[in-house]
Amino acid sequence: MSVNIILLGPPGAGKGTQAGLLTKSRGMVQLSTGDMLREAQASGSEMGKIVAEVMAKGQLVTDEIVIGLIREKLAQGGSGFIFDGFPRTLAQADALGALLAEMGQGLHAAIELQVNDEVLVDRIVGRAEEARAAGKPVRADDNAESLKTRLMAYYKQTSPLVGYYHAKGLLKGVDGLAPIDDVAAQIDALLG
Ligand code: AMP
Repeated sequence: MSVNIILLGPPGAGKGTQAGLLTKSRGMVQLSTGDMLREAQASGSEMGKIVAEVMAKGQLVTDEIVIGLIREKLAQGGSGFIFDGFPRTLAQADALGALLAEMGQGLHAAIELQVNDEVLVDRIVGRAEEARAAGKPVRADDNAESLKTRLMAYYKQTSPLVGYYHAKGLLKGVDGLAPIDDVAAQIDALLG
């Protein structure tokens, strides 16, 4: 059976961490539009140049660009996808539904990682400090100013997806404040 899931939640909720664990434990395929956009930037492609400023500010890049990235990945075939950081708007959610339907597939669940804002700020500031200490590059958008914009983008543009997937009977919530392994266990239980 092909199980495709979405991880929903604000920046810093742990979507990337949990997606990484699921790729190891279940051999699922992580599709992170944030990672794809950062790769495009690093490669110096035209698209990377176009999105760099928008991302650094913490705003969403256009639906057209991210839907195009996901379309390209899905065109390579496969199943067992974890959509991490996508969809982020209702238009993206509709597009994802249509792309999966074209492949004869659907969504198994949209898993919301529930957290609170104070924790997010601490986690993101912590992520930047850890990277600095390890001599690794710090994400250009991991700073207080763009975090504010990213949170606002989440509440305005992405949080309506909670209702959208609830209406489709696909929404599942997990406690994103629990330790990483406990969150992973909650997700594992949901996936059966
Ligand atoms: P992330 O790594 O998921 O936190 O994404 C980092 C940044 O990439 C976001 O703040 C947006 O600027 C951009 N981005 C990633 N995914 C999307 C998406 N699905 N729609 C629009 N912008 C996105």
